[in-house]
Amino acid sequence: LFAELGLLNPLLPEEYGGTGMPVSTLALVLEELAKACAATALLLIAQTDGMLPIIHGGSPELKERFLRPFAGESKLLTALGATEPNAGSDLLGMKTRAVRQGDTYVINGQKCFITNGSVADIIVVYAMTDPDKKAKGMTAFVVEKGTPGLIYGRNENKMGMRGSINSELFFENMEVPTANIIGVEGGGFKNLMETLTINRIFCAAQAVGIAQGALDIAIKHTQNRVQFGKSLAHLAPVQFMIADMATAVECSRLLTRKAARLVDDNDREAVLYGSMAKTMASDTAMSVTTDAVQVLGGSGYMKENHVERMMRDAKLTQIYTGTNQITRMVTGRALLFT
Ligand SMILES: Cc1cc2nc3c(=O)[nH]c(=O)nc-3n(C[C@H](O)[C@H](O)[C@H](O)COP(=O)(O)OP(=O)(O)OC[C@H]3O[C@@H](n4cnc5c(N)ncnc54)[C@H](O)[C@@H]3O)c2cc1C
Repeated sequence: LFAELGLLNPLLPEEYGGTGMPVSTLALVLEELAKACAATALLLIAQTDGMLPIIHGGSPELKERFLRPFAGESKLLTALGATEPNAGSDLLGMKTRAVRQGDTYVINGQKCFITNGSVADIIVVYAMTDPDKKAKGMTAFVVEKGTPGLIYGRNENKMGMRGSINSELFFENMEVPTANIIGVEGGGFKNLMETLTINRIFCAAQAVGIAQGALDIAIKHTQNRVQFGKSLAHLAPVQFMIADMATAVECSRLLTRKAARLVDDNDREAVLYGSMAKTMASDTAMSVTTDAVQVLGGSGYMKENHVERMMRDAKLTQIYTGTNQITRMVTGRALLFT
């Protein structure tokens, strides 16, 4: 449906046939979608995962080759492959290796948990070209579906976000042309961090949406459910829960919108506010959805009332695009060392 409406790739720049939607506008869209279905919002976030590295780091030729096909009603999907079984928070510990041989790089290694991994038409793969150089030894490549040596592992069976696919990827002597490097050899880590800064804000917007959706359901239930001869709305402990939930959601929303605006303004503080927004909004989504289940009582535990799904979906927002321990570290470092 997104593709038919031309909405699948909101960040695609105008010069490549897109709308070049500002990050702050997309954050609003994601919030609205996630109110009803966080996995649907994730569909759009995943599209930005594979597109942002090219938008930010790609040469004009690379953009022409890999951005223009996403214009209009394109159904092409993207993915971003960074995480490995032994390199999650510690991305510089990745073992996937790319070795140059003439006009190609031969890539060996594996990735895990990759959103859209097994269905993506193009995957941005991060690999070490010179492990001794650490951050300066990582390079980003565009890998096309069907490339020999690109092997799909299992699609994961997840707690939540069950409308989205996450896959293992294996690279066995996978040959990628040098022309598919994003930016320059050794520029991968910087490129990945730039992408993560923005994707954390999308994750925050998604978390705000999940929390608002659960709050809306909790408020309606509180007004309608009668116990002890009165609606739950008359019970002070329930009122306080609703008040705290709404306050946390609004704080998260304002912080997320500020962070998104900073990205659009090319302000370096986007890193600080983006990590704060991601931490705050995802912790809020987790606590608000848990409280929403509580407010609904036994019916909150039943699948038909949606809040248990929202609670399971919320958990992911504390984990991906950098766990909340890592985003707290990013926030602390930005405050203390810059
Ligand atoms: C549904 C889903 C979708 C995902 N999509 C993608 C994707 O599209 N592309 C992609 O590349 N990755 C993706 N990921 C991976 C995700 O970004 C990682 O799972 C996440 O960054 C955490 O890495 P890890 O799972 O290896 O946990 P670990 O790094 O092993 O962390 C385990 C725990 O230790 C804590 N910890 C680790 N290091 C520190 C530290 N230095 N200080 C304090 N605490 C620490 C963590 O906070 C966490 O609580 C996805 C994951 C999931 C679950």
